[in-house]
Amino acid sequence: MAPIKRQIKVILASPRGFCAGVKRAIEIVECALRKYGAPVYIKHEIVHNKYVVNFLKDKGVVFIDDIDSIPDGAVVIFSAHGVSKKVEEDARYKGLYILDATCPLVKKVHNEAQKYVAEGRKLVLIGHKNHPEIEGTSGRVAADQVVLVENLEQIENLPFKSDEKLAYVTQTTLSIDDTKNLVNTLYKRYADIDGPALKDICYATQNRQDAIRELTKYIDVLLVIGATNSSNSNRLRDLGASQGVTSYLIADETQINLDWFKDKQVIGITAGASAPEILLKQVLDLLSTYYQTVIEEMNGVVENLKFKIPRELENL
Ligand code: SF4
Repeated sequence: MAPIKRQIKVILASPRGFCAGVKRAIEIVECALRKYGAPVYIKHEIVHNKYVVNFLKDKGVVFIDDIDSIPDGAVVIFSAHGVSKKVEEDARYKGLYILDATCPLVKKVHNEAQKYVAEGRKLVLIGHKNHPEIEGTSGRVAADQVVLVENLEQIENLPFKSDEKLAYVTQTTLSIDDTKNLVNTLYKRYADIDGPALKDICYATQNRQDAIRELTKYIDVLLVIGATNSSNSNRLRDLGASQGVTSYLIADETQINLDWFKDKQVIGITAGASAPEILLKQVLDLLSTYYQTVIEEMNGVVENLKFKIPRELENL
């Protein structure tokens, strides 16, 4: 007789997983493949998730980092993270056919950045160095007009006078609490600083973080499904840990270590904005192999936002 499995409760965060910007980006790629045929080229990973990237590779997408490596006249798609002005100009110069999958909420930050610089303000960009969204946003204004800051120490060391005309914008996927702290410090140090409050942090980041704040009241351990290079997934893991719950970021079920659940009764699970629901299903299947799982879903904010895709790709 098979041994009786231990019962374990699983609570699913809500909302979790794909956001409107990621859904739009994937839809653009799939429509482009239907309309123009393979290969289509994508600058950077379309979203930060290997499952999604491999799925699209199998359909004929070629992911590149360097615009120069794309054959002249080919179709190129800019990822949801956005690109710098230079990348866009290089693509035009090569005669590439551009489809822009930059999330509209990232585009909004680009526009704010350009507006502040046009007003004569120096720009403080709050975000993570080397993240493609930050490369895209900083590359929308002249290099000598923008300074990247990642933490309080860097704000303390900014080279500006206290009455300098400044503005700030932020990456869309940061920790809300950390960013509040950084923004408050900027306001304390500088008399003439403008900025979008915390509105640059997108609704999906905010909703997923709010859900973790609630979920962590009821769980013993948290699994965040997402890629190690996914900013919003890392922030969910950090938030779980900061709420006193042991939290793990996993790409998929193969990274689970059953020792994590010894003496634990309730597992919480969420997924970053670029992690597809199938990865959650695989995690749940694995857990049910070893435990008698009782699965519950949180009541969370219902997200109905949908972004339009470019008109030329509609109705395909
Ligand atoms: S996480 Fe937010 S900003 Fe990023 S793609 Fe999704 S909706 Fe857009």
